[in-house]
Amino acid sequence: MILLTFATADGLRLGVKRSDGVIDVMAHAGADAAYYDPRTFYTHGQAGIAQLRALIDSLPLDAPTLDESTLDRRAPLPAPGKILCVGLNYRRHAAETGAPAPTTPILFSKFANALAHPGEAIPIPSVTQQPDYEAELAVIIGAVTRSVSQDRALDYVLGYANANDLSARDLQTRTSQWLLGKTLDKFMPLGPYLVTADAIPDPQALPIRLWLNGELRQDSHTGDMIFSVAQIIAYVSAHFTLEPGDLILTGTPEGVILGMKDKVWLKPGDSMVVEIEGLGRLENTIAG
Ligand code: ZN
Repeated sequence: MILLTFATADGLRLGVKRSDGVIDVMAHAGADAAYYDPRTFYTHGQAGIAQLRALIDSLPLDAPTLDESTLDRRAPLPAPGKILCVGLNYRRHAAETGAPAPTTPILFSKFANALAHPGEAIPIPSVTQQPDYEAELAVIIGAVTRSVSQDRALDYVLGYANANDLSARDLQTRTSQWLLGKTLDKFMPLGPYLVTADAIPDPQALPIRLWLNGELRQDSHTGDMIFSVAQIIAYVSAHFTLEPGDLILTGTPEGVILGMKDKVWLKPGDSMVVEIEGLGRLENTIAG
């Protein structure tokens, strides 16, 4: 299923995208409508997805749909739990930064203030002079995940989304902790869709691309990850528990501004498009 969140005068709504349009889930859920509030729906994990699938399957074929182009689309996971990120996780990206390829995953975090919606303009605050983009595969956790093996790890994934791990390089490298440069307000555009894991059988088989002002800057493949999605989940869950609605950004491939000889940092009016196969197109501009 292809899920999205959109805003109405009544608040946020969960949508399911079909070929004929978007189903407004809460409008069809009767007394269960609150269960599908997108701010809490993802905490139900895989059970919620199963219940949603049964609801959608029970609708008549001519159930009314909404025209997606008229919707005010928001980040598909509007209230993530933990937000974990993996640094230097693509071989050619580690090489372009001059860093050795890590032998264990480098973990850091962002906070929910960093969420930005599809199409939203991203403000660059005056505290940074070096804003950069990072196309990333985002993984949404669908079950309580504790000490899982690599073989079973993907069973705990609810779905996937495009993300842009915007990074203020001067703040990221000010101290040994990257946090400050990673979690500025709206520095994590997400979406437009959350695609359930059944539709993405192999997360290591996806072309991943980013265009800046129409120029293809990142053109890689999730197969270049040093630590696979399954390895990351197994590694993290050996140390602490992941829960439904947690989000993991799995690193960016080569082609970021940081890795270029002549570094022209992001500036007002710039347009960024992230596209991972099967996950749609995430477009954001830099605010003027
Ligand atoms: Zn990143």
